[in-house]
This record gives sequence, structure tokens and C-alpha cells, in this order.
Amino acid sequence: MRTPAGNECRFYYEDYHRGHETQECRLIARNSRGGAWKLSLCARCPVPDILRQNACGNLALEATVKKGLLGLNEHVEVFAVCAKKGERVTQPARGCGSCHEALSRIQG
Ligand code: SF4
Repeated sequence: MRTPAGNECRFYYEDYHRGHETQECRLIARNSRGGAWKLSLCARCPVPDILRQNACGNLALEATVKKGLLGLNEHVEVFAVCAKKGERVTQPARGCGSCHEALSRIQG
């Protein structure tokens, strides 16, 4: 679904049908320590770029709302894990490369 900021994000959800007025981030919502989402966070959120650059089905993301110095500059911080290896992925847009290694071994 396209966020009001104009980015495609599968975690954004909205429903305005039959009297509903729902807008939510389902990625932040599923993190019990994710913080309070608001629409403006989508504009600078790294998740849409990560999803566009890395379509790996083993990439698991967790998002948290963080504040910068003096409580300003609220933003979304992403923690990524490879569900296959169970290890942190430090560059989620690039991935960990594990699946590519396995693929090149098969292709010889
Ligand atoms: S905050 Fe980020 S992950 Fe959540 S809906 Fe907006 S763009 Fe998607």
C-alpha cells in the first residue's frame, strides 16, 4: 500500500470504508517496544527503500520509533535479522548474502 508520503510500503495500512478512519504501521505495531507511530514518520522511514532494494523472503524487520537529541527528530529505526541464519543483518537493503552464497554453490 502507498503511504501518504508517497512510498510503497507493505506495512502501511489504511481503511476509510464504511465510516472507518484507520491508518497504521503494522511493522511498528507488532513491536511491543516500538513506540507510538504517527503518519509523519513515513516520510523519512528507511523501510520502503529496504523493501524495494531487498526482496529476500528471509529478511525479518523490526521497527522502533526513536528520538534524537533533546527529544527532537523523531524517526524510525530498523533492526534486521536473517531468519535463515538467525543473525543480524547490518545493511538490510543489501542483505547478508547468505542466500546468494547457497545459490552460487548450487550453480557451481
Ligand atoms: S513508518 Fe515506515 S514501515 Fe511504517 S508504514 Fe510508514 S513507511 Fe512503512
